[in-house]
Order: sequence, then C-alpha cells, then structure tokens
Amino acid sequence: MDEFEAIVQQQLEIDRNYLREAYKYAIKHSQDPMTATGAVAVKNGRVIVKGANKAPSGVIITPEMMAGPNKYSYLGHAEENIITGSAMMGIPLINSSMYTPRFPCAVPCMRGIINAGFSEVVTHKELQELCADLEPEWLETQKIAAEMMNLAGLRHRSVSCKIGNDIPIRVRGKFYYL
Ligand SMILES: [Zn+2]
Repeated sequence: MDEFEAIVQQQLEIDRNYLREAYKYAIKHSQDPMTATGAVAVKNGRVIVKGANKAPSGVIITPEMMAGPNKYSYLGHAEENIITGSAMMGIPLINSSMYTPRFPCAVPCMRGIINAGFSEVVTHKELQELCADLEPEWLETQKIAAEMMNLAGLRHRSVSCKIGNDIPIRVRGKFYYL
C-alpha cells in the first residue's frame, strides 16, 4: 500500500466510525416505529452533537400520534434535532461535518444545515440506495436539498462501506444490516 492509499483507507475508517455512531444513536433514540434515522455533527475530529428522529423534548409520543396522518409533525428529523440541540447547548456548528447516513431532506434539514454553517454532508451510499428503493417518496425533497447544497457551496461525500452486523438499521418497519 502506498502513502496515498494509506491515507484514503484511514479516511474511510474514520468516516465509517462516524456513520456507525449515527446508526447506533438512531436505533437507541429514534421514536419512529417504522424508520429510525440518526446523525452526528463532527468538528476537529470529535463528535460534538448527536441527533435522531424524535419528538421535541417533553412531548410524549403516543401510538395514536404515530398512527395518524400528522406523524411527521410530531417527529423532528435527526439533522434538525442536531441543529436545535446545538442551539440549546450553545455549541457552534460552523465548519463542522454532518454525518447523516441518508441524504437529508430539503425542509427543514438542508436549509438548517446550510444556515448553521456546516461545511460538508457525509452520507452512506448503501443506505441511500436501499431507501431510494423502499421510500422513493423522499427522492424529490432530496433532489431539492442537493440543489441548495450545491448552490450554497457545501461539499458532499457519499461513503461506501460495510457498517457491520452488530448494528440493526430500521427502515419501513424492517431491520437491515449493511
Ligand atoms: Zn430532514
């Protein structure tokens, strides 16, 4: 392995670890019984904030809320919850990386990611492909998000890697191991 390959391998291992952190947080903290999403904000080589798709603090979710047509009004997205959580704790997100296995939606997530000052978005290629098949209704908003991200000058890296069989990934009520 030459020096360049060694650097690429090292970066891949770093990216994989942060994606694993996001998946672990999702499966532990998501309140969506169907699809669990998680994300982590990384700055200077450290995870500074974590988020999952869940209700605002203090709002108790009931099965009725989750079964009804307004489910997504109760559940904040993982990326959104990172941004609001950072606001509460007074943690600046400027120049940090948003590790979010699935590509963000346009509203509220990408709008917030851009305005919070993130410099890049890192996604997991294998999950994005799986979700494009299982939940194609998100593709339109992701397309708008990608457009805004490019216009605003944020970098996107789609990382292809094996997450491992120790972390279940819940999509549409089923578990996957990527
Ligand atoms: Zn979103």
